[in-house]
Amino acid sequence: MSFDMSVSDNLKNIKSKLPKDVTLVAVSKTKPVDTLMEAYHAGQRIFGENKIQEMVEKHEQMPKDIKWHMIGHVQRNKVKYMAPFVSLIHGVENFKVLKEIDKQAEKHNRIIDCLLQIKIAEEDSKFGMSTEEAKTILISEEFKELNHVRIIGVMGMATFTDDINKISKEFNFLKSTFEKLKQFQTANCNLQTISMGMSGDYELAISCGSNMVRIGSSIFGERNYTH
Ligand SMILES: *Cc1c(COP(=O)(O)O)cnc(C)c1O
Repeated sequence: MSFDMSVSDNLKNIKSKLPKDVTLVAVSKTKPVDTLMEAYHAGQRIFGENKIQEMVEKHEQMPKDIKWHMIGHVQRNKVKYMAPFVSLIHGVENFKVLKEIDKQAEKHNRIIDCLLQIKIAEEDSKFGMSTEEAKTILISEEFKELNHVRIIGVMGMATFTDDINKISKEFNFLKSTFEKLKQFQTANCNLQTISMGMSGDYELAISCGSNMVRIGSSIFGERNYTH
């Protein structure tokens, strides 16, 4: 996207390409509140952050009708800070984290929606669990006792590459994992959401079955981590 376009133009542009049933998460990590407010004034209400502390600070400063999504790696000792308000946690990687989210949600009398992060890339740097591990959680008795979390879908991050074949293979793999896990319905598990696709690959992701895309740089511009 070109430099001279505003956040609201970028948003409009992307939204025009999204089918109605696809949810847009505006990934605002590293961006200042002023910039997020431009998106808010353009009608955006779902924001994604990857650091709990940063999300907490932005939540405090911004309007309360925003839905905050945690899209990054979740450190167990920080779950308590987001438990009062977080709307969806994308990156649940194991049962221990889920148990902590349940515990903190209970303190606030909430049920927190979560996605299981599935490892779909070959890169070691990418987090996530296998389809088997996800299944093991969903059929366990321990999981059924967690009354303050609800698993509503899966999330995945494709390999960082230009190889479209490889990326679409990984997206198709997540879609098939979703279909396999969908049969495991319980009071706290009802899979509906497939969170996949970022600025560079969201159209491909949607063609592979995504219904939630996480888009940052195409809305807010490139991130500058040195600032
Ligand atoms: C940063 C990030 C995104 C957004 O990436 P862009 O390429 O800027 O759209 C999406 N998902 C996750 C998990 C991220 O950390």
